[in-house]
Amino acid sequence: DAPVLQAVGLKKHFPVRGLRSHDVVHAVDDVDLELHRGRVVALVGESGSGKSTIARLLAQLMPVTGGQILLHGQDATVRNRRGFRAYVRRVQMIFQDPFGSLNPVHTVRYTLTRSVRIHQGKLRGAELEDALSALLTRVQLTPVERYVDKFPHELSGGQRQRVAIARALSADPEVLLADEPISMLDVSIRLGILNLLRDLRDRLQIAILYITHDIASARYFADRTMVMYAGRVVESGDSESVTQDPKHPYTQLLVRSAPDPEDLDARARGARGEAPSLVRPPAGCRFNPRCPFATDVCRTEVPPLLPVGDGRLAACWGYADRPDRPTLGSVLEV
Ligand code: ATP
Ligand code: MG
Repeated sequence: DAPVLQAVGLKKHFPVRGLRSHDVVHAVDDVDLELHRGRVVALVGESGSGKSTIARLLAQLMPVTGGQILLHGQDATVRNRRGFRAYVRRVQMIFQDPFGSLNPVHTVRYTLTRSVRIHQGKLRGAELEDALSALLTRVQLTPVERYVDKFPHELSGGQRQRVAIARALSADPEVLLADEPISMLDVSIRLGILNLLRDLRDRLQIAILYITHDIASARYFADRTMVMYAGRVVESGDSESVTQDPKHPYTQLLVRSAPDPEDLDARARGARGEAPSLVRPPAGCRFNPRCPFATDVCRTEVPPLLPVGDGRLAACWGYADRPDRPTLGSVLEV
């Protein structure tokens, strides 16, 4: 089926204030992405790889440097406040820190009433109570009376994230952009939030972008997984095969270097070596300085995302059909 939300050749370069006025941070370069109804795509990568930038571009919280965002195949570029309001109704975002995204001086009732009125019209009385009740039930904050008059500080992190999700749902969105929605929560309640999001995927057929450091949670939760490195997608495919049989050397490092399954940051750090400068990224493949298999072509030419079987893609010269080099597969088997 056709994608709900699509990015083509997405690019974001941030200006840097420095010695040279023309320097930019290459935060996101040439990223293609498709979100489908009732499907979850995970965006995985270490800190600074451009994940949040992609989410903010897709939410149209800032302009793109290049490329296009399409909603149901139509250019979705927001040009004014009215356009933004209409867009936000269909594409909602939830953030890492549910405490930061909820106003501490407002009760759950106030926060949800406000968003219900923005997105569903000026409901009042029993109609409004029903709407609030439906939202809180949807995120499993029941009995509703126990939660609706609470302030954020009276709720646990997981409950706050559920309120943030309820607020997003008040718009009845087609797309949910979830930027590390569980990384600040206690390990014990993370699964509950992922299961809630999965329930929204299945029952409301929402298209979800799930951003995470943690490739194991991507495997659990996402239908497809995209792996980013230094602003580019290096690998994508169905989550099971990307995590079980990673093709790109960076994904292989990410999957293998998981000393403690609970320590997500250690996992992300696991790929040895320094993250590259995004102001002057390495020529060719951006992973080449850290790659055990790098050859000359990797240092000069950007590898395109190439099919590596089963609908999977990897941006690695090791898989290119070039007679002058062994495949990475054969190198790894030695
Ligand atoms: P994390 O896992 O730490 O959240 P991330 O993958 O979400 O990382 P981004 O926040 O998208 O990474 O950042 C990508 C790059 O863009 C980083 O080098 C970051 O410093 C840079 N960047 C992000 N926002 C800005 C900005 N507003 N101005 C300048 N540079 C920025
Ligand atoms: Mg981020």
